[in-house]
Amino acid sequence: MTFLGGLGDVGRNCTVVEQSGKLLVIDFGVMFGDPAIMPGVQHVLPDMGWLNSRARDVVGLVVTHGHEDHLGGVPHFLRNIEVPLYGSALSMALAEHKVTEARLADRTSFHVIGDGERRRIGPFDVEALPITHSVPQSLCIVLHTPVGALVHTGDFKIDPSPVDGRLTDLGRLRALGDEGIALLMADSTNADRPGRSASETEIGATLRRLFSERPDRRLIVSCFASHLHRVQQICDAAISEGRVVVPVGRSMVNNVRIARQLGVLDIAERSLFGAEHIGRLDPGELCIVCTGSQGEPGAALSQIASGAHSDVTTGAGDTVILSSHPIPGNERSVFRMVSRLARQGAEVIHDGHEQVHTSGHAQRDELRELHQACRPRWFVPIEGEFHMLARHAGLAREMGMKAKRVLTLTDGAQITLKGNELQVRAGVAAPYHYVDGALDDLDTEVIGERLALTAGFVHVTVVLDRKGRLAAAPDIASRGWLDVTKHADVVEALSDKIARAVEQAVKGSRPGPDPDDIERVARRATGRFVGNRTRRRPAISATVIPLA
Ligand SMILES: [Zn+2]
Repeated sequence: MTFLGGLGDVGRNCTVVEQSGKLLVIDFGVMFGDPAIMPGVQHVLPDMGWLNSRARDVVGLVVTHGHEDHLGGVPHFLRNIEVPLYGSALSMALAEHKVTEARLADRTSFHVIGDGERRRIGPFDVEALPITHSVPQSLCIVLHTPVGALVHTGDFKIDPSPVDGRLTDLGRLRALGDEGIALLMADSTNADRPGRSASETEIGATLRRLFSERPDRRLIVSCFASHLHRVQQICDAAISEGRVVVPVGRSMVNNVRIARQLGVLDIAERSLFGAEHIGRLDPGELCIVCTGSQGEPGAALSQIASGAHSDVTTGAGDTVILSSHPIPGNERSVFRMVSRLARQGAEVIHDGHEQVHTSGHAQRDELRELHQACRPRWFVPIEGEFHMLARHAGLAREMGMKAKRVLTLTDGAQITLKGNELQVRAGVAAPYHYVDGALDDLDTEVIGERLALTAGFVHVTVVLDRKGRLAAAPDIASRGWLDVTKHADVVEALSDKIARAVEQAVKGSRPGPDPDDIERVARRATGRFVGNRTRRRPAISATVIPLA
């Protein structure tokens, strides 16, 4: 097993299993960029370095479920390695949409695995079990190997009353546990939270009550576009109150269409309207269901909040419901958006006031239930920040597993199972693969340069005449360092300082001055002056131009 992502972060999940020299990849997801430590980065993916070195051995990519942090990186993967994709009907439909949009459909094929189905992929004997989560048709992947069964839960919760009635197959996991599970890899996202997560159907009841209490208000409800059971419940509540539903936001419109085609979503044609009809419907006649619950700048709800949406404006007659919970790191942007909506006069309801959301991840009692069913020989907590993995490891030990059988690993870790033994290997490089725009070149050095620019920059240009003396006063260009209209004197003093330092250096150099030396002198003089005079730390660069 090689763990390439999701062990130490929430996101960019990727696990690779090797058997008989062949590789099977489970998930290839994205993670949101953290603007504080990686400015301008939209996504972070698992690194392809090690996988590319083994490209010829990869026999397939299995997607556990349709979330971005599990399949969002599939186009990038396919650009590097051509393999077939496997997963539930919904996961495959979502993957196909994504892959087709990226014009990569000719590099793969899509293979649906049904609940309980067992099939060969290369040397791998793969069984897919139904498991509940916040997107329909999530799968728990079981690999039957010569050393015993390996169980990869994907993301999961144990919901006793899911919207589609499709329960987690604990019976089959128990039976596999009786036969002997060699290794369990399980979701750790909520390993900190005691008790159980509320069932998805409880949220529907809250939504119905909130809707019925507001017959004359326009309703705008936001959730993840992939959370189709939530979308179903929002639609059911709206339609039962005599409203029509208007999906807003690109991925909401797409997913509603795909899910209706697959029969995952049941909404009558007459109750579904396009955004162009919003203007002619009374507030009490419609319910807008939209994307943007995480405060993502380009998504529908953020645009509505900032008055930039082409079809929807908001005001005092509106109730906005965030049927969601901020992903760690998104709290600020979510509440900035909530404040904007409140300033427009809208009533905003979120999961801090009402039970309008439940997590898709198992809490501690549900994790105990999983461990009780599986009773694995070895356990590796996956899918979580390190403290979550550590808490999940603690839970396994509390349940009686020997400490040496519980491995808290991080990205890049490699383990080998042989007979009854488990060997921890040296591991592989698993750095962040940053995505910003069209090029694939961002590394920690470029990210470091971006961070250095957050205090502005100062650029100095020094022109030397034929004799190597200053041809003019050094020129200072800056951005974000200081207000040059208020502090022209500071800029002038800096230019003088550099001129003196350069003259000094030129005088001391025989035969003529080396431009590289002069550049260094100019940069140092600038750094000293900027630090002493302004107590700020802009990035500094210099150019020396010798006249021919
Ligand atoms: Zn998920």
